[in-house]
Amino acid sequence: MDLGLSGKVAIVTGASRGIGRAEALVLGREGADVVVVFKTSSRAAEEVAADIRAMGRRALAIGADVSSSLDVQAMVSRTLQTLGKIDILVNNAGVSGKQVGSGKCIVDLEEEDWHAMLSVHLTGTFLCTKYVAPSMINRHWGRIVNTSSILGRVGGRPGAASYGAAKAAIIAFTKSAAIELAPHGITVNAVAPGYIETAHLKSIMSPEFMEFARKQTPLGRFAQPEELADLVVFLASDKAGFLTGAIIDFHGGRMEYYAP
Ligand code: NAP
Repeated sequence: MDLGLSGKVAIVTGASRGIGRAEALVLGREGADVVVVFKTSSRAAEEVAADIRAMGRRALAIGADVSSSLDVQAMVSRTLQTLGKIDILVNNAGVSGKQVGSGKCIVDLEEEDWHAMLSVHLTGTFLCTKYVAPSMINRHWGRIVNTSSILGRVGGRPGAASYGAAKAAIIAFTKSAAIELAPHGITVNAVAPGYIETAHLKSIMSPEFMEFARKQTPLGRFAQPEELADLVVFLASDKAGFLTGAIIDFHGGRMEYYAP
């Protein structure tokens, strides 16, 4: 199926590794030019961009903290100067490890950790949307795909209050943005993944918990980043033109998530 992505310009935040890296590579494979946004992993991001250039596309790695308005504005400006337009925004950047893996009760959660979680996920999604959307509005075409989580649907396991709250807020933000931007030819959707087998996930979850979660997943396994990337890239494509305001669960059938 031709997804119609040839010649499109895509920004993927958090694309130096994990899910974002897979999304950037699949977008490149499908014909898009890609901006690989990272926070600190410049070498890994440069490698992703080089892999995309090797596919015959244009690609650049840009360092930007998505929770910083100045960083996001500079990243958008550089993209427009270098690649001329922005068709697709994948808001993927995120952090989870420290708090989600800690099992910490809300009463022990530091205020600065709470703010940091909401800043990256929620404010980052807002800022990137705010500063990218005008260039899409000008051209009356755009695709925005946000990254929620199944924990944004059902709340969290202990330790995930801030993460689950941020991811739930992304669901409401996605629905609002879909309504506001629809008249401008822009669709806004979100994915709500269960466990995706990234190196980061494996580093924060104990082998015992990974085994417990796998057994609770009706399909009996975790997803690979490339499987989620295929869904995200479909949402970013011409083929998904009537799909907006949707939150697509991606959990292998695991609809109950409470784990003490
Ligand atoms: P990951 O491997 O830890 O990668 C996180 C990415 O986000 C990295 O590229 C990192 O850049 C970037 N990043 C972190 N903070 C940033 C900031 N302030 N500004 C810009 N970039 C920043 O994570 P992942 O497992 O692929 O997860 C990606 C997304 O999917 C996250 O939103 C996560 O919450 C969501 N998700 C993941 C799972 C899962 O099971 N893995 C499940 C549900 C939802 P640097 O490398 O430069 O630090």
